[in-house]
Amino acid sequence: MTPTWAQLGYLVAAICFVLALKGLSSPRTARTGNLIGAAGAALAVVVVLAADRPRNLLAILGAIVLGSVLAVPVARRVQMTAMPQLVAVFNGVGGGAAALVALLELAETSGAGGWLELLAVAFSVLVGAVSFSGSLLTFAKLQELMTTRPVLFAGGPYVFGGALLVAAALAVGVVLDGGLWLGVVLAVVGLVVGLLLVLPVGGADVPVVISLLNAFTGLTVAAGGYVLGNSLLLVAGTLVGASGTLLTRMMATAMGRSVQNILFGAFRTPAGAVAATAGEARPVRSAGADDVAILLGYARKVVIVPGYGLAVAQAQHTIHELADVLEQRGVDVSYAIHPVAGRMPGHMNVLLAEADVPYEQLKEMDSANPELRTADVALVVGANDVVNPAARTSPGSPIYGMPILDVDSAQAVVFLKRSMRPGFAGIDNELLHDPKTTLLFGDAKDSLTKLVASLKA
Ligand code: NDP
Repeated sequence: MTPTWAQLGYLVAAICFVLALKGLSSPRTARTGNLIGAAGAALAVVVVLAADRPRNLLAILGAIVLGSVLAVPVARRVQMTAMPQLVAVFNGVGGGAAALVALLELAETSGAGGWLELLAVAFSVLVGAVSFSGSLLTFAKLQELMTTRPVLFAGGPYVFGGALLVAAALAVGVVLDGGLWLGVVLAVVGLVVGLLLVLPVGGADVPVVISLLNAFTGLTVAAGGYVLGNSLLLVAGTLVGASGTLLTRMMATAMGRSVQNILFGAFRTPAGAVAATAGEARPVRSAGADDVAILLGYARKVVIVPGYGLAVAQAQHTIHELADVLEQRGVDVSYAIHPVAGRMPGHMNVLLAEADVPYEQLKEMDSANPELRTADVALVVGANDVVNPAARTSPGSPIYGMPILDVDSAQAVVFLKRSMRPGFAGIDNELLHDPKTTLLFGDAKDSLTKLVASLKA
């Protein structure tokens, strides 16, 4: 029985987690939210150790120190653009740990707690294992340790369906039998299901799957909380499960796809369509910084479209400087923010907030598209997929159906990029060859610095 003071401690920690989520919903309060969440987690660890007085306290403290020594430098050094990979690894180890805890509980109690507890154990083992192997595979894809494209093989859907059936049968076996060995086989099959789930997902869909696996980990932890009779784990797991599910739905909506289509769409895509990039050399119009500066300087209205390349070049301060110079010349400047621009939800908002870009100048997609129709220049800085008209015109393209920023409706389009390489989805952008498009090649920060200098001159 958990003592009252410990239950109160759990309650305070749970309130911290809810406040943390609230804080994380805006760039302005995200840091505070993060700190509150970390304080809640620290409090939870102290309370659980003090209340349970585990036999193997030294081993637990050793594991905490080891985990911190490994994770803190990685988290400190990670580039913002590599955040999805980091989240994938952290999420995977969370799911794996929850599955191991459930297996240990099975070894210790052999299901003495009844069928409901065994059901929670089976769920934790299976879904935790799926989350572990699936997350590690998404890490490998995002880190480009393997192809980022969907990996398909003959009979794939049947193998996946078969593995799911075997997993379901084993889970029923665990509930009926309560034996450890069935639980271990269930974990192994769960690892295979996780791999089969993620292999056919590729390109821009991979981050959505991370978010889905994150929801899985949350549910695994919640089930673990039930098994261990720990109310805080139940609350924390449910919060992660709910927020992961909401984020998955929001990302899928932003890409104009259903979650089902993201997971299994590649099975229905004709062979070759997914991998198709034109790649042939075709003419484009490029210009120097001085010419682009003239185009911008004489415009009435410029809409800036930031993307992943802005983050890579760390050019957020320079773009703000350019906007200021243009505004001083009487140009109306705003920023069009696509929900999946960059490499994580809210990436562009965070980046531009860091450079103190006025919040009112940031237009979400619904209000940005009407602005683009009346703009003289759409200035695309390191963005590609989120403005690629293939999303409207090319069924079979990995981004088909994703709502995009209609930069092609502006009078003129300027792309700031380094080469003709495609964006994250790996597909060509027809707009680069459009007669109204001008390319200014180079690192975004260098090009923006030249534009500012040219406009000031
Ligand atoms: P893209 O990945 O489509 O394009 C990025 C562009 O930036 C490329 O054209 C690249 O061209 C250019 N670039 C890269 N580095 C620089 C640099 N230093 N200076 C100038 N240009 C540079 O980015 P978008 O933001 O348009 O789209 C995001 C994509 O990522 C979408 O497909 C989205 O689905 C996916 N995604 C989104 C996530 C999210 O939650 N926001 C998470 C993970 C993926 P070049 O190499 O020639 O310079």
